[in-house]
Amino acid sequence: MERLSNDEREAVFRRVEENIRVLKEKVGEAAVRSGRAPEDITILAVTKTVPVEIINHAIHCGMTHIGENRVQEFLEKYDQLDLSNCKAQIIGTLQTNKVRKVIGLVEMIQSVDSAHLAQEINRVSVQKDVVTDCLVEVNIGREENKGGVLPEALDELLGKIGEMQAVRVRGLMAIPPICETAGEVRQYFSQMTQLFLDRKDKTSDNISMDFLSMGMSADYEEAILEGANYIRPGTALFGHRTYSK
Ligand SMILES: *Cc1c(COP(=O)(O)O)cnc(C)c1O
Repeated sequence: MERLSNDEREAVFRRVEENIRVLKEKVGEAAVRSGRAPEDITILAVTKTVPVEIINHAIHCGMTHIGENRVQEFLEKYDQLDLSNCKAQIIGTLQTNKVRKVIGLVEMIQSVDSAHLAQEINRVSVQKDVVTDCLVEVNIGREENKGGVLPEALDELLGKIGEMQAVRVRGLMAIPPICETAGEVRQYFSQMTQLFLDRKDKTSDNISMDFLSMGMSADYEEAILEGANYIRPGTALFGHRTYSK
């Protein structure tokens, strides 16, 4: 995004404030409709391509979690982010050679989908003397070019991560396929909720099912109605992304 003039900045700030208000209202309604309280749902603001000054404004307006999906962009922004009351996460494909750069800076990595990646997170976490929270990403639509572990391989991966002392799995994450109808996407969300609930009583020392992260700008209400307790809106907060860089 171009450098903003004062007037433009003020206009964007007002828009983001209004977007946060509307989002929180809808999240609250969906939470109540699904038998939960608004505060049971964590909102992670997806900030990819969003300039730091706008991200910081959203943080000052109460966003407590932000997510970036590219390590390079995250690191470029990191020093200027006001993270005194907010935590940052990685939500996109993470290459093993970038793991070292983010461990210790992020609250959670939402996109763990292989033992290889988990091992590297474990190795670096041990070296840095931290425990890293992760979600295991599930490829619930069985899409070929998408990250995530297939549902039938989930338990094997959880078993392997269970042996790693410095990785702690906190739940599951999914990005369902693009769907034509709300009914269709709800089926994917519902399958995820089933996987999540099925594993709630099979937890171990470092595997727990606290968070089910699903639902983006177009479908977070459906996700909540199906059982998500962690949503990842970007566009709904910051408007459409311009990939100019
Ligand atoms: C970009 C992104 C989002 C947010 O998408 P919107 O449609 O803008 O809400 C959520 N999750 C992941 C993993 C993303 O990469």
